[in-house]
Amino acid sequence: MTVKKFGGTSVGTAEMIKKVKEIVSFNDEKVIVVVSAVAKTTNRLVSLLENLEHNDIIFANNDLKTIYKYHFELISELGIKDDTIEYLDKIIHVLKNIIESVNNKIDLTNNQKDVILSCGELLSSKIVYQYLLSENVKASFIDSREIIKTDSEFTNAEVNLEQSKYHINNKLKDSFKSSDVIIMGGFIASDEKGRTTTIGRGGSDFSASVMAWASEAEKLEIWTDVDGIMSIDPKLNKNALRILQLSYDEAAELAYFGAKVLHPKTIGPAIKAKIPVIVKNTFNPNLKGTWIQDSDTNTKIIKAFSYWDDIIVINIKSNRMLGAHGFLNNVFEIFKNYKTPVDLIATSEVSLSLTIDSDKNLGYIIGELEKFSNVTVHTNHSIISAIGDGIKETAGIASRFFGVLKDVNIKMVSIGASEVNISIVVHQGDLERSLDLLHKEFFDNLEYPNIFERIENGKN
Ligand code: ADP
Ligand code: ASP
Ligand code: MG
Repeated sequence: MTVKKFGGTSVGTAEMIKKVKEIVSFNDEKVIVVVSAVAKTTNRLVSLLENLEHNDIIFANNDLKTIYKYHFELISELGIKDDTIEYLDKIIHVLKNIIESVNNKIDLTNNQKDVILSCGELLSSKIVYQYLLSENVKASFIDSREIIKTDSEFTNAEVNLEQSKYHINNKLKDSFKSSDVIIMGGFIASDEKGRTTTIGRGGSDFSASVMAWASEAEKLEIWTDVDGIMSIDPKLNKNALRILQLSYDEAAELAYFGAKVLHPKTIGPAIKAKIPVIVKNTFNPNLKGTWIQDSDTNTKIIKAFSYWDDIIVINIKSNRMLGAHGFLNNVFEIFKNYKTPVDLIATSEVSLSLTIDSDKNLGYIIGELEKFSNVTVHTNHSIISAIGDGIKETAGIASRFFGVLKDVNIKMVSIGASEVNISIVVHQGDLERSLDLLHKEFFDNLEYPNIFERIENGKN
């Protein structure tokens, strides 16, 4: 059995949904299909939500109209209006009611935020399901909220893996009795009280990985809009090479340090069950894509560069009221209390630089830090990471890395915390130039035919 996850662009048009059908029914195996919301829909729902939060009812209604129109046309083009239009109307009605209650001065609840955000996946999964049925695929539909269980941290809920596994296996047993293909939405789940939750932007990859782990699938396929995992974001650099193989550690680190192609939590469940993860291009299904699995090829080369934009650097200098131990402890306690993850850290005895990626509680955090230290904050920075098994213990890599950036002001460095990662912080204005220089230096003349492939006009 295989779990196949299709991202937003992969289900973005009628033509793409037809391609999905071909991929899903390619051979006789049992398949769980996890779909994202149709391209741009979640962004539109976020906009609707923000408009409601600002009481901009007219703009919220415009968002609703756009969502309706796009899905109405998609359903019509796929020829499944009779079976699906009622469902579209139902979802639109739910959203209309929420807009109406905000218009009547009733505040949005946190749960209602997730009811709004979940509409994209509710619609896309129903549409793909109805289309597969109309094409005589033996398909059944599962409402993800019945099987993926989370806490009640609305909009960014934590999946309870064991509880979910129990529900998933009960449900799958039944559903596979009468069908070969199961369709469900990614990203959406429910809490203990059965209320709709969502698991964070880009979370459909993680939903699929949870499904693969719980059902002991043979493989997890992530179908997206690029040829696999590349040596650098291909939208940023046309010379990106496709990576044929990555270890779990490399893929996890790349995802965590900004390569949007995989949600950072995706690799965890796959490692647990040792399931290979394959990243493939829905637009070009014959390409082999990237295989992520337990790897014993300790190649000691940089496999990819990733970046993370809009990072905030905080420099904290102790006023020496506390000893070094108490100082570090107090600092991290504050970030923990405000649920703000720290990404990179560099320390000396009395000072500390660190990066965070959200300014959500920044004011409070600074206020607390200033009780025992001097604090400076720098916005508009970026993290650049080089990822590759064994690179940190390979002589020469660091000197080439820093050598090529000799004219760039590097604000922070982290080597050694992870086996597979060298990271630096630069000003956002230096990001693209730095990535270009680094990619040129490490990939222009690289020949590792078992690991990389240069893409020539989509062949191979
Ligand atoms: P989906 O909707 O299929 O989940 P995403 O937009 O979330 O797709 O992720 C795919 C995008 O990730 C690509 O279009 C690409 O621009 C971006 N990306 C960033 N870094 C990389 C990388 N190293 N390799 C491939 N894609 C990357
Ligand atoms: N639709 C959600 C998002 O855009 C989840 C996903 O696509 O993975 O964030
Ligand atoms: Mg994604």
